[in-house]
Amino acid sequence: MQTSRSLELFESAQQVIPGGVNSPVRAFQAVGGTPRFIARAKGPHLFDVDGNEYVDLVCSWGPMLLGHAHPEVLSAVARTAADGTSFGAPTELEVQLAAEIVGRTPVEQVRLVNSGTEATMSVLRLARGITGRDKILKFAGCYHGHVDSLLVAAGSGAATLAIPGSPGVTVATTEDTIVCEYNDRAAVEAAFAEHGDAIACVITEAAPGNMGVIPPSVVDGENFNAFLARVARAHGALFISDEVMTGFRVSRQGQFGLDGVVPDLMTFGKVMGGGFPAAAFGGSAELMSHLAPAGAVYQAGTLSGNPVATVAGLTTLRLATDEVYARIDAASDRLRAEVAGALTDAGVAHVIQRSGNLFSVFFTDEGVTTVPDYATAKGQHVERFRAFFHAMLDQGVYLPPSAFEAWFLSATHDEAVLTRIVEALPTAARAAAAA
Ligand SMILES: *Cc1c(COP(=O)(O)O)cnc(C)c1O
Repeated sequence: MQTSRSLELFESAQQVIPGGVNSPVRAFQAVGGTPRFIARAKGPHLFDVDGNEYVDLVCSWGPMLLGHAHPEVLSAVARTAADGTSFGAPTELEVQLAAEIVGRTPVEQVRLVNSGTEATMSVLRLARGITGRDKILKFAGCYHGHVDSLLVAAGSGAATLAIPGSPGVTVATTEDTIVCEYNDRAAVEAAFAEHGDAIACVITEAAPGNMGVIPPSVVDGENFNAFLARVARAHGALFISDEVMTGFRVSRQGQFGLDGVVPDLMTFGKVMGGGFPAAAFGGSAELMSHLAPAGAVYQAGTLSGNPVATVAGLTTLRLATDEVYARIDAASDRLRAEVAGALTDAGVAHVIQRSGNLFSVFFTDEGVTTVPDYATAKGQHVERFRAFFHAMLDQGVYLPPSAFEAWFLSATHDEAVLTRIVEALPTAARAAAAA
């Protein structure tokens, strides 16, 4: 596989962009080698600057639910852009996108923002403003964007780079952040027993996908999200479900569609922007009324709800029908079975976990049957993933370049595309076995 142009660009990029990338996980640091510079994409395929074609299992880390360059999304974007791209004044499209989100989820109102990070940052301010309390509780390995107070024991790129917090995040900021292991009910109860009247909110990924996919556990019929909502409310705290990754991806509604737990506040991003910068946070009309200009909690944005991103998200959501989700679910079922089969045939110990169609593969020790938390996830054999990743890449399959990330499918991953992935698996599984 020819990669000389990517290599050249990566060298130039490192001169003018820190580490050569604008988001750390893109740099391939966890897997080694040269990141591929992408020239274009169509449906389930990426094409790099050297002319190589890949089946894409990253899908821009989630947004491209309908596949790349969907013709109806593109024409909506072109039509809208021709009428002007940002006004700093309200538009009808914003009302339509908000209504679409409200129609799919338990929130009654949403505020549109530009990134998932902005959504989680703003929702924390709102929760603190409403409760008059300072502390927040989060889970190890859950990633909520690069918000200072949430960049403690965070997953995603931070997991890959082993940055537990980050220089530049002050001690004062993190002092108000309590971290528990995911799925650890006793730890949450202990935290509330000690700090109950100071905790503004519990924030969690609705189903964590940034330390690999770790679904909420069910104990005595109660899902972990339901447990969190119950314990938070018993102490006058708010339960915030971060659905930036899962929202409108794991089901028409998101994780809410799978477990039915109604949070106090929610965050959305990724799919709802259709490949453009758009995100949102929302809740009941009562809670959201605390936000300026209706209420006192300040939040604003020059480009928030800009027509181009808004119409891309709106068109994507309108095209994301039950049939689309059924197709992605079926593709996910098939792919998980094939990956498990290939790894088993090659004698590679592994655990595959999923939330709806979102899944990831943990290269665990022999005998491990479940990965309930970050501590367990970190115990996996990243060198086996690395070998697996490069063997897949060499055969034209582009996996997330980290063992701690979910694999993403789109509605365009059809039978022929799946077959191409499946044909690459035995070689990659043998590479993992040899690593
Ligand atoms: C991606 C992600 C974010 C951050 O979103 P950005 O748009 O990258 O800022 C927040 N929370 C979760 C769960 C995410 O997966």
